[in-house]
Order: sequence, then C-alpha cells, then structure tokens
Amino acid sequence: MSARLESSQQHRRAVLKALLWISLFGGLLFGGVNAARGLWVLAGLEIAYAIFSCALLRIIGTTKHLQAWTVAYLLPFFGLMIFALLLPRTSSTVFVWIQTIPIICYLLLGLRAGLWLSGVFVCLGVLAFNYRYMTDSSLMNVVIVANVGLSSLAMMLFSHVYERSRVDNEQRLIELASTDGLTGLANRLKLAEVFERERGHARRDNRPLSLIVLDLDHFKRINDKYGHDGGDQALRHVADLLPQRLRETDLLCRLGGEEFAILLPGADLEKAASVADTLRQQLAKSPLQQGDGQLTMTFSAGVAVLGEDGSDLNALLLTADRRMYEAKGGGRNQVVAAGQQYSLASDPR
Ligand code: GH3
Ligand code: MG
Ligand code: MG
Repeated sequence: MSARLESSQQHRRAVLKALLWISLFGGLLFGGVNAARGLWVLAGLEIAYAIFSCALLRIIGTTKHLQAWTVAYLLPFFGLMIFALLLPRTSSTVFVWIQTIPIICYLLLGLRAGLWLSGVFVCLGVLAFNYRYMTDSSLMNVVIVANVGLSSLAMMLFSHVYERSRVDNEQRLIELASTDGLTGLANRLKLAEVFERERGHARRDNRPLSLIVLDLDHFKRINDKYGHDGGDQALRHVADLLPQRLRETDLLCRLGGEEFAILLPGADLEKAASVADTLRQQLAKSPLQQGDGQLTMTFSAGVAVLGEDGSDLNALLLTADRRMYEAKGGGRNQVVAAGQQYSLASDPR
C-alpha cells in the first residue's frame, strides 16, 4: 500500500472510530428517549443501529475493506436522520444532524465519494425539512428556508475546500519526506517503498532486480579544496548526470553524504554491473566547471542482485556496500559485482 493511501486509511479509521462511539451512545440515548415518547419504530431502529455500531467497532481496526464498511455504516445512519426528520412528532432540531453529513462524508470517504454522498443526503435532508414543515407557518418563512439551505451549502463547501487542501498538503508532505533536500533525488525512505513494490513485480514476473551502491572517491578532498558549497555543487552535478544514462523505471537515490544507490528492475547482476560501469565512465569524462578549473570525479561501486545476494533491501544494501568497499580497496574508480571486477581498459580518462 502506498504511503499516501496508508496515512489516509489511518486517519479515516480514527474518525470512523470516534463516530461509531457517538452513534453507539447516541443510538441508545435517543432510542430510550423515543421509546419513552411512544415512537417505537424510530426507537427500535436507533437501538438496532447502536448495536450495529458496536459490532463495527470490533471490525474497523483491522478490516481491509474500510471504504465498504464505511458506506455500509453511513447509508443507514443518514437514512435514519431523514426518517426521523419526516416523522411528525420528532423535534425540528433533528435537522442539526443533517448539517454534519458533509463533514462526515468528506472526512471518511475523501473528495469524490464525499461530494456524491453528501450532495445526495443533504438535498434529501433539505427536501425532508421542507416537506415536514410545509404546513407549519412558524417555520415556513423565507428567512428560515434560506438559513437551512444556505447553511447546508456552506457546510458542504467548507468541507470540500478543507478536504482538498488536506489531500494536497498530505501529498506535499509525503513528497518532502521521500526527497533528498540537496539533490532533489529520492531518499532512502523512497527507495524502501519502491523496492517493496519492485520486489513484488520481480517475483510475480520472474524477472531479476539489482541494486548498485556507489560512493564518490576522495570526496573529502573536494570539500577541502572547494569548500562545502563546492562539495554540494559536485553532489548536484552527479545527481543531474547519472539519470541521463538510466531508464525511466530505474530509481536513483541519495543514501546520504556522497553515497548513492540505484535500483534496476529487470536487470541481472551482469547487466547492472555494465550499467554501473557505463555511469562510472560517463562521470569520469564529464568534469564539473569550477571557476577556471575543472573538477573530475570518480566513484567506486558494488552491485547485488535479489535472490543470490539476499531477499530484502537491507541484505542487498549490505552486500552491495561490501563490494563497493572492495572496489575502494582495489584502487577506487571501479565496479565490483560478485567477485568480478569492472575497471575497463577503455577508460576514457
Ligand atoms: P573514499 O574515496 O574512501 O570514499 O573517500 P572520501 O573522502 O569520499 O570518504 P569520506 O567518508 O572520508 O568523506 C566523505 C565526505 O563527504 C566527508 C563529508 O564531509 C562529506 N559530505 C557528506 N555529506 C556531505 C554534504 O551533504 N555536502 C558536502 N559538501 N559534503 C558532504
Ligand atoms: Mg567517498
Ligand atoms: Mg562515503
């Protein structure tokens, strides 16, 4: 499940839980009051609904079908409000509950379903109010009808605007949390999320999945010579250059410092090592202009493949990291994959 969907589900589960407690107590309370007033059908429905809410409280913590259970809960809830509004001996203040429909719908179902469900039930509520009080001259004047209609519309509008900006902000936060601030590349969190998805695809389609870990060589010297800002510029240069030789489906991310990782769906160990070596050569022949001089960078990389080198991201990172350090030990500016060392004689430098 994506991070966004996961956080929306959590949020909705919490709102639904609060609402279920309210309808459990509200159902029992109003059921009792209406039974005492002789409104037996309404009282029976309210108590049955309280029992239904109690049963749902046990389900919603774990169910995978939250949306379906939410709709199953809301339809009778709103239906009951309208039924109560239509009964001749109930209070006109029942209409106050109709005002809560848009908020409940948007919070629990999101923008699209929220708009539809609240649109339908608020209209039914306003119609029921007008039908019930058509003959009541004290309630049927222009001011009251306008108040009821406009306040219902305002509630819908506010709920819609609120949910729209909540969804946008949530999306922005998720993007921020999965992006590296300096380079704009994906970060480790995003890598973990994409890895899970790609591992699923790789297993289902029986396709390979490889990981490259690369670390810039002697980066400390760059910082020492050009200052921290110069070092930052060098990191951004690498982040701009490497994706040019990658496929759309590959994921380049900054693990931290001057260490990067590349996830390559569909690439076996040999293919991934060859991609890493192409990138190594590309970086070595693409120096960064620094004042009057040129700054040439290289990296050392290790490659690991799903299956042979482990079945989860941590195992692949560990193996690729170990091979990257073998490449450092072998003299840097090279790629190591399962004992093979790629340090091509056709080096452009
Ligand atoms: P090696 O070839 O063995 O990898 O040597 P190295 O100098 O690259 O490795 P080392 O780990 O000793 O140094 C990494 C340096 O990267 C040290 C740290 O100051 C610098 N660094 C880490 N993060 C950043 C950053 O965000 N910006 C800049 N400018 N420098 C950073
Ligand atoms: Mg380094
Ligand atoms: Mg390092």
